Amino acid sequence: MKRDISAAEALAQILAQTPVLGFETVSIGEALGRVLGEDVRSTRVLPPADNSAMDGYAVCAADCARAKHDAPVWLPVTFEVPAGRTDVPALARGTAARIFTGAAVPPGADSVVRQEDTDRDGERVAIRVAPELGLNVRRAGEDVAYGELVLEAGARIGPAQLGMLASLGRTVVAVHQRPRVAVLSGGDELVEPDGDITGGRIVSSNSWSIAAQCRELGAEPVYLGIARDAPDDIERKLRAGLAADVIVSSAGVSVGDRDFVRGVLEKLGCRLHFWGVQIRPGYPLAFGCVGEDGRGPLVFGLPGNPVSAMMTFEQFVRPALLRMQGAQRLHRPIVRARLAEAMRKKPGRMHLVRVTLERDGETVIARSTGNQSSGVLTSMIRAQGILIFPADASELAAGASASVQVLDADFLAADAPGF
Ligand code: AMP
Ligand code: MG
Repeated sequence: MKRDISAAEALAQILAQTPVLGFETVSIGEALGRVLGEDVRSTRVLPPADNSAMDGYAVCAADCARAKHDAPVWLPVTFEVPAGRTDVPALARGTAARIFTGAAVPPGADSVVRQEDTDRDGERVAIRVAPELGLNVRRAGEDVAYGELVLEAGARIGPAQLGMLASLGRTVVAVHQRPRVAVLSGGDELVEPDGDITGGRIVSSNSWSIAAQCRELGAEPVYLGIARDAPDDIERKLRAGLAADVIVSSAGVSVGDRDFVRGVLEKLGCRLHFWGVQIRPGYPLAFGCVGEDGRGPLVFGLPGNPVSAMMTFEQFVRPALLRMQGAQRLHRPIVRARLAEAMRKKPGRMHLVRVTLERDGETVIARSTGNQSSGVLTSMIRAQGILIFPADASELAAGASASVQVLDADFLAADAPGF
């Protein structure tokens, strides 16, 4: 087991042990937010036929070449094509067909003159503009060609991807499995939210934050409850998590007399890869795997303090859970931000500073959320980003720039639409 490693080494060790999970088939109604597990090639042409982009008249452009506003070309209107008509006859030269948006363009027609550029008089229509060939016609296949690779495995399925799957006639789709994450809290001081907090007990907020962090990125938390500070209770609860893909336990992994989690993990056959990462908050982080063959769950022993637990989840558990789902990008967006005020620390550990972010023209300004204590959960509520204060540095001057992981892109949200 390694001790006191850097954040980069910790992450590399974790990802080296993290498998990509297998696939499952889900209906497209369930697929939003999942990671696509297959390349989707089109078995269709989209749109399937030339169709009209306007309400108007389908014509042969050559028949209207001399049309002018005050010298229209008159054509007989021989039939109508409403949207959805499938038995569309061919258009004879020198005639027009009434057509509506989305309707198939008749064979023989090559352009659609919009209604506003015509005048109808009984069975005839006056065409008042000379259409360019193909005017107002959406060509078959202009969106998707037959056999085209439309969606690539590893893509997150969003609203547009779902619409495309539906358009291709897909009712089910292969996606990566969602990791099941057993979430365990531990400590004699902890109660559930409706519990009695007299005598200095506290609510196990980590149970909720961590389960929510799992859900937010598509993993499925399974709550194991609160273990007492007693090896047998920790063991019983951890055993219930052995069938999961990942176990995330918070607290009890430090060096206190009542920190039993590491010992119990080892007893359960968990090989610890490292303990202690040179970061703040979050130093007492442990990581291991159950089973020599790597088929048991990955195990994260997070520190107990609410900010440390969330921060280590964010930096180390989140990328692993994304990797498991087949995601291609594992990390938050990073921006370079300018510090509103100087920051100081002792060299040695990398600090993960919770900051608010503000746009000033093209520049992003980062400002500490205030009290950076690892028990101050409000710092996570305020945080729009996490500023990387490198391990070796001891000062970042006001106005200096630093890398910030963006947690909340809403700082870019505008109060006007930009048009
Ligand atoms: P420990 O790692 O057990 O020493 O816990 C460190 C700090 O985190 C202590 O102040 C604990 O009360 C607090 N803590 C531990 N577990 C939780 C939890 N599930 N929710 C909120 N705070 C916790
Ligand atoms: Mg404790």
